[in-house]
Amino acid sequence: MAKRTLLYPGSFDPPTLGHYDIMKRGLKLADRVIVGVHGGSLSKRHWFSPEERIDLFESYFSPEESAKIELCVYDGLTADLAIEKGAQGILRGLRTASDFEFEFSMAAMNKHLAPGVETIFIRTDENLAHISSSLSKDVLRYRNVPGMVSELVANKIRERLEELGS
Ligand code: ADP
Repeated sequence: MAKRTLLYPGSFDPPTLGHYDIMKRGLKLADRVIVGVHGGSLSKRHWFSPEERIDLFESYFSPEESAKIELCVYDGLTADLAIEKGAQGILRGLRTASDFEFEFSMAAMNKHLAPGVETIFIRTDENLAHISSSLSKDVLRYRNVPGMVSELVANKIRERLEELGS
């Protein structure tokens, strides 16, 4: 039987426990998950380079998980990457109603661009619904709170804060 591949695209700046949770649950549905780290866009400034974000996301995975995961950087359209990688689906996490509005349009556009590729949404674990890359960076600036990102990622955020002098 053909292998089932899902593409999990995102900024992952940096990857959080919420991202990792969606990744783990996506792995249960697929033989292979490709993490597509979006290099950048005009509207978003990133704290970490795409390569750093790949290394940080990889640090969450167990060896068993790693064997089924490929990570890559991309700059163009997610739909084009899905076609190029032979993915049958695009994996996305849903947290809030505002996520839904954006994701709904994005899924429709991706269907337009790649009719053979289905977007698959996984609802956030309610304990992780409030976690985002940007809020984790904001909070860790002032308080050392666990449970949002891994210890390694928290240390990288603090290092970056020092470099930025804030
Ligand atoms: P993007 O810029 O493409 O939205 P993100 O890195 O912010 O990239 O998010 C990548 C994916 O992970 C999105 O589908 C987002 O909804 C999902 N996600 C982010 N945080 C969480 C969370 N806490 N729980 C579930 N899904 C999440």
